Parts: sequence; C-alpha cells; structure tokens
Amino acid sequence: MMRDIEKVLITHEEIVQKSQEMGQQITGDFKMCTDQPLLVVGLLKGSVPFMSELLKSIDLMLEIDFMDVSSYHGGTQSTNDVRILRDLETSVTGRHVLIIEDIVDTGQTLKKVVGMLESRGAASVKVASLLDKPEGRKVVLDADYVGFTIPNEFVVGYGLDYNELYRNLPFIGILKADVYA
Ligand code: 5GP
Repeated sequence: MMRDIEKVLITHEEIVQKSQEMGQQITGDFKMCTDQPLLVVGLLKGSVPFMSELLKSIDLMLEIDFMDVSSYHGGTQSTNDVRILRDLETSVTGRHVLIIEDIVDTGQTLKKVVGMLESRGAASVKVASLLDKPEGRKVVLDADYVGFTIPNEFVVGYGLDYNELYRNLPFIGILKADVYA
C-alpha cells in the first residue's frame, strides 16, 4: 500500500493524541447527562478505527450502535443520493446521541442522519468527526467535535477508502495520481 501514497497528511501518533483530547472533552461535556447511558453511533465503515480509538478516552456509561449510510458509490466524489444501508438496532427516543464520522465533506450525509435521529425523538444529537473538509460543504452542517481540518483533497487511511481499499492504513494520506488512472 505504501507505494501508492503520495504524502502522509496526519500521522498515527497525531490521531491517537487528538482522539484522547476529544474523548476527555466529550467526557466533560456529557457527564451531567446521567439519566440514560450515552448512545454512540458509528457510521460504517469509515468511522470504525477512529471510533475504537476515541471510545478508549470517553469515561462515561455508554452504548454503541452502527448505521451504514452511503453517499459515495465507489469513486472520489460525494453524491447527494444518501442511502441508508443499515439502520440502528437501538431506539434513540429520549437518548443523548453522539454520531461518530470519519470525515465531513459536503455535509449531506450527516445532515440526513442528524435530521433522522432528531425526528425519531433523540434528546440531543451531536457529531464527532476525525476530519473536516469545510471547502467541500454544500449544506449547513458543522460537527460539534473535529479532530483535524484538512484542505479539499481526497484522503485515504484510518477508515477512509478508495474503492474499499486503504482503510487499514494507520495514518491519513493522499494517494498518488496514477492510482486513479
Ligand atoms: P459528505 O456527505 O459529507 O459529502 O460525505 C461524507 C462521506 O463521504 C464520508 O463518510 C466518507 O465516506 C466520504 N468522503 C468524503 N471525503 C472523503 C475523502 O477525502 N476520502 C474518502 N476516502 N472518503 C471521503
């Protein structure tokens, strides 16, 4: 895989450090919400490595669940055709929900998911994203917790894929142009 990488943008050490800081911040912000355990919702598949790192630093009673929502259909351009491929098993009614995402680009995926969980009666819906690409935004949507703000480039690694590959890279990187050719 390494020979397909043009540049490492964010190292594994930086991700681990940022996940610890974010986990401590989330712990502080939600510690008063003791009526029910926090519900942490990972958006498959890209959030999995970041979610597992972040959870280690959230010192709260919590449950986890997953949704699979697709807006990329194999390429490098987001579409506004947001499809629910797998829904939650847990009811969100009356629950404080924290959505974990790998990256916010156009914002369309999260806008749809946040709206859906709010309409199901969640007590609150917050978003933690490892990465943010604000230049890509097409709708008004900001994550409540952001690890790193990056330029408008297509990145892979730490859960992020190109055609389902490179998710297992332990860092965030940019692919060489000839990989897309
Ligand atoms: P949005 O709806 O915000 O445009 O897209 C969010 C989803 O698009 C992310 O969960 C991710 O799957 C995908 N995405 C957006 N930007 C990138 C990127 O730079 N690299 C990869 N691999 N996926 C991206």
